[in-house]
Amino acid sequence: RYTTATVLEEPITPPVQVNYTKLLINGQFVDSASGKTFPTLDPRTGEVIAHVAEGDVEDVNRAVSAARKAFDEGPWPKMSAYERSRIILRFADLVEKHMQELAQLETWDNGKPYEQALTAELPLFVRLFHYYAGWADKIHGLTVPADGPHHVQVLHEPIGVAGQIIPWNFPLLMYAWKVGPALACGNTIVLKSAEQTPLTALYVSKLFHEAGLPDGVLNVVSGYGPTAGAALASHMDIDKLAFTGSTDTGKVVLELAAKSNLKPVTLELGGKSPFIVFEDADIDRAVELAHFALFFNQGQCCCAGSRTFVHERVYDEFVEKAKARAARRTVGDPFKKGIEQGPQIDSDQFDKVLRYIRSGIDGNAKLECGGERVGSKGFYIQPTVFSNVEDNMLIAQDEIFGPVQSILKFKDVDEVIKRANATRYGLAAGVFTKNIDIANTVSRGLRAGTVWVNCFDVFDAAIPFGGYKMSGIGREKGIYSLKNYLQVKAVISPLTNPAW
Ligand code: NAD
Repeated sequence: RYTTATVLEEPITPPVQVNYTKLLINGQFVDSASGKTFPTLDPRTGEVIAHVAEGDVEDVNRAVSAARKAFDEGPWPKMSAYERSRIILRFADLVEKHMQELAQLETWDNGKPYEQALTAELPLFVRLFHYYAGWADKIHGLTVPADGPHHVQVLHEPIGVAGQIIPWNFPLLMYAWKVGPALACGNTIVLKSAEQTPLTALYVSKLFHEAGLPDGVLNVVSGYGPTAGAALASHMDIDKLAFTGSTDTGKVVLELAAKSNLKPVTLELGGKSPFIVFEDADIDRAVELAHFALFFNQGQCCCAGSRTFVHERVYDEFVEKAKARAARRTVGDPFKKGIEQGPQIDSDQFDKVLRYIRSGIDGNAKLECGGERVGSKGFYIQPTVFSNVEDNMLIAQDEIFGPVQSILKFKDVDEVIKRANATRYGLAAGVFTKNIDIANTVSRGLRAGTVWVNCFDVFDAAIPFGGYKMSGIGREKGIYSLKNYLQVKAVISPLTNPAW
């Protein structure tokens, strides 16, 4: 019926070494207090890449103490903003020099195609640090004209010690979105990487110290969510929590934050983003973009265009072409040139995606192509396309986080806006049309934090990103992220000396 353009051979030996596996606390690589380690696995084979120090409550406590001291005693929050900016710039330049090793390490730990890590994730990482380095010395408060003879200053101060928890799908980019603005604002950090992908966060944090970052400003604790992650979320001495991951875990960390010291929380969560193709669209381009919107990064994107709505007049043509495109997708060793799709991150995600595919078949969606694992080793899945998908099917409602495209049919503008919004999520959306009235109506009608019109996944350090509804709270990137990491202090004094 169909064969994936599979290129599976013996895994290529990654040309990079793993040099950093310990926790990074107060500028030093240290073992965990318990001495425990956990394995990080190669998604191509399921084999162990390295054993990494496993942080837990005691390590989080040590890291928070270091970050607290670095915040309270300086020099970081007290040094000139220009100096902070220069350290961040030096760091970005160092990362640029090490882009190849970093992209290799990212591919090894995560399974994403090396070419994509090198040409997308790493350049976006560097750009983001350049962007926030530029902000460091431009953050300032205001004076306000209050009633009465008072001088009123509003100061924007760093919020303190930030706890940051990141996921495995873009380990470096998620690090950048969190660390960049927090440091530019003068905060100190304890970051927990995802247990599936701990390696690159340690590597880049080492480079940060080489660039002149003072000890204790940026601490990295590798480890699991319910232990190290929960310890961060519930810590009494953390002033702000930023989290990216699933909606379920987002609820857990929000509750832990509320029950401890009521630290403010920003959440970047899941999505079920609509990609809407109108009848006037250039169908070949729409097919290509819809394919990219869903399959990029093995379908493991929070903003994946995972509900492809297609106008009834072009539906059959679109489905045929979408299926042909998926069938051409090259799946194989992510280190190999020309490979578009590597393995899923781990066996849990692999099993979960295959379960969703099964539910699509059982629910009478039409399996156009794919549907099975690729090979017998590692976590590769065939690019899968379902047509005749109905709104109430599980595959149209849940975030699958895998290479599974669901194509739905619609008739008119009002109907598709309503159906696109009929989800608990609201992260992103795509609209494909040449009609500016439709583009305007739909982009304003959609309840989502990002709407891409005739494009998708256009990311830029300056563009805010975040979700409506259960896709999250707050925005990251751009000027919006600064507010997450600043406190506002009003200082009021009489304009003239009162008679004492
Ligand atoms: P997750 O939410 O469990 O993990 C994200 C991060 O949270 C990791 O660092 C993890 O260790 C940590 N964590 C887990 N439990 C925690 C807890 N109790 N307290 C504190 N921290 C905790 O996500 P996952 O298991 O890696 O992936 C599951 C699903 O999450 C995916 O299928 C996908 O739907 C979604 N996801 C979304 C994004 C995104 O960018 N929005 C990224 C990755 C995963």
